[in-house]
Amino acid sequence: MNKYKIIMLALLIIIITSISKTYAIINNYTLLGKTIYIDPGHGGMDSGTTYKKIYEKDINLILSKKLEKELTALGATVYLTRETDKDLSLSRRHRKRSDLISRAYLINKTKPDMYISIHLNYLSNTKYKGLQIFYNNKNKQNKIIAERLTQYIKEKTYNVREPKYNSSYYMYNNIKEPGILMEVGFLSNPDDRYRLTHEIYQDILISNLTYSIEKYFKEKD
Ligand SMILES: [Zn+2]
Repeated sequence: MNKYKIIMLALLIIIITSISKTYAIINNYTLLGKTIYIDPGHGGMDSGTTYKKIYEKDINLILSKKLEKELTALGATVYLTRETDKDLSLSRRHRKRSDLISRAYLINKTKPDMYISIHLNYLSNTKYKGLQIFYNNKNKQNKIIAERLTQYIKEKTYNVREPKYNSSYYMYNNIKEPGILMEVGFLSNPDDRYRLTHEIYQDILISNLTYSIEKYFKEKD
């Protein structure tokens, strides 16, 4: 083999391997080009629901950060309304209202393909348990997101409740972008509480949620 042929062969090998590598990267980045806004509910002085020393705000943040990591690994651009234990209020007198206005403002300004607000539920009757997605009608895609994510997450997650229309959440009514509010479980229920405070279940839940989001976009596009 002469020198010219060896160089050509080497070049060919380099081109083939780089094409297959690029293909693999593109193939794994199933959420490339998607912007997702994660909203960990509560924070700072506002603990959300509590059970002894377990605060809703902390679990919301842990789950949101795990979700951020998984979605980013799939190529999505991910934002969080908060990354630490704080609220987003600008007013002391109307702390809760101001906090929700700030979250809605951030999400509207960014115009994500989807927002997900993460919360925990609580009822005095401790028998109620399971994950449930709530939606309003401020964006026509909201109901579809709620139904699809419920359908897909159900395939792999225990105890998923039916999605529910709800217009009472203040922040919902100020957000024009598509999205939902997810109550990942009941802090009042011993079974849910045990799962949500253990990393093994947290990881399974977030992996199932990521799968659901991926499947929703795949079907939509
Ligand atoms: Zn909450």
